[in-house]
Amino acid sequence: MNISQSSFPRVVIIGGGFAGLSAAKGLENKELQVVLIDKHNYHTFQPLLYQVATGGLEPDSIAFPLRKRFNDVDNFYFRLADVLKIHPEQNEIETSIGMLDYDYLIIATGSKTNFFGNKRIETHVMEMKSIPQSLNLRSMILENFEEALLVSNLEDRRALMNFVVVGGGPTGVELAGALAEMKKEILPKDYPDLDIREMKINLIQGTGELLSGMSAEASKKAEDFLVKLDVDVWKNLRVVDYDGIVVKTSSEASFTAATVIWAAGVQGEAIDGLDATCTIERTNRIKVDGFSKVLNSKNIYAIGDIARMSTKAYEDGHPMMAQPAIQQGKLLAKNLLAEINGKPLQQFIYNDKGVMATIGRNKAVVDLPKWKFQGVFAWFVWMFVHLYSLIGFRNKTIVFMNWVYNYIRYDRETRLIIRPFKNKNKYSFTEK
Ligand SMILES: Cc1cc2nc3c(=O)[nH]c(=O)nc-3n(C[C@H](O)[C@H](O)[C@H](O)COP(=O)(O)OP(=O)(O)OC[C@H]3O[C@@H](n4cnc5c(N)ncnc54)[C@H](O)[C@@H]3O)c2cc1C
Repeated sequence: MNISQSSFPRVVIIGGGFAGLSAAKGLENKELQVVLIDKHNYHTFQPLLYQVATGGLEPDSIAFPLRKRFNDVDNFYFRLADVLKIHPEQNEIETSIGMLDYDYLIIATGSKTNFFGNKRIETHVMEMKSIPQSLNLRSMILENFEEALLVSNLEDRRALMNFVVVGGGPTGVELAGALAEMKKEILPKDYPDLDIREMKINLIQGTGELLSGMSAEASKKAEDFLVKLDVDVWKNLRVVDYDGIVVKTSSEASFTAATVIWAAGVQGEAIDGLDATCTIERTNRIKVDGFSKVLNSKNIYAIGDIARMSTKAYEDGHPMMAQPAIQQGKLLAKNLLAEINGKPLQQFIYNDKGVMATIGRNKAVVDLPKWKFQGVFAWFVWMFVHLYSLIGFRNKTIVFMNWVYNYIRYDRETRLIIRPFKNKNKYSFTEK
């Protein structure tokens, strides 16, 4: 890997997401050699992926080059690689570019989509966990409308204009709202020869309420906002099968749809090599103690989505969200330095700063620990928090300018098919 041995202990961090980046920041310019490894050379701001998918933002405005963040940091190395396996007995990791030994290992690999073992669904649905996947979705949405123009059969046209979003958590709600705004403001102008009223957006939620991690007020208001935007909200309904055309559900209801977007769950992005007892089978998350140390290990830690730290308040682990990841990374960096210097360690206590989701223009819901509110003010708070949290001045500026432009002009100018979506499993209505 071309990383020199130093007299300082080596800390290897796998993953430059919210957790890994926060840990790396806390360890910069200390008497340590820090090696950050990621399969992408950028950090992804996942909360805004849905805006990339719906033509509201450029993909590079929500990505930040990992090397740039550490340009002026001594003893810091970044390597672009896929980590394939951990060898805890040898204190080594195996990667796509070679082996690397470590004194301390931090696993911050985040999460991946959970299809709950249904391979057919996995083959045919669209995911939205990364920038390339969001770009695929953006292309596919637009390609479907281009194809809808060409088909003469009414049923086929309706299928191409029928969107099913599975999962009524923040991702599903935000995506359904953004699609509804495209239907209202963009598509009738771009496709005057199509009857856009035929476009349907179905949001399917397995339980009895949307945004189940939020308050009852937020859940109810989000549903009202979506219904006003002409989204069909289906509750207590589970998707059980999708063959690329027909969505089958747990009830009689079925949908003929060219696009199904799966936002129904995530599971830990685990790496092979750890003792099987360290991982929770259902969620694929790694069991850690209150100091983020992996079960039965001396020098391996896990933070962020991948880590399952069971506490009294969070028995099944902390919510898989940015704040727990950032806070765990920050504290772990402090604790590692304390451990090396023989000082006492601090147990992790999650400081819940609140949860929010946006449904569309002037429509958001915010639950703060002591205050819950919805509507226009919530929408401004949502925008401010997301702008503030984005990494890099350039990204903040571009996103801000885009939002102002989109707000004033009722537009989304990045509705571009730059890289056509290719999937051999995609059903073609025009090539029948
Ligand atoms: C669409 C969407 C919307 C979201 N909206 C919100 C929101 O509004 N608010 C909120 O708080 N949270 C939101 N989240 C959740 C939030 O983004 C995650 O909880 C957070 O990113 C977790 O941080 P992390 O560092 O654990 O993982 P990540 O940020 O996912 O980072 C993991 C990193 O590890 C790298 N990696 C993984 N495996 C390997 C490997 N084998 N080798 C090398 N590198 C690897 C990945 O490339 C990635 O860079 C959203 C998530 C999604 C997908």
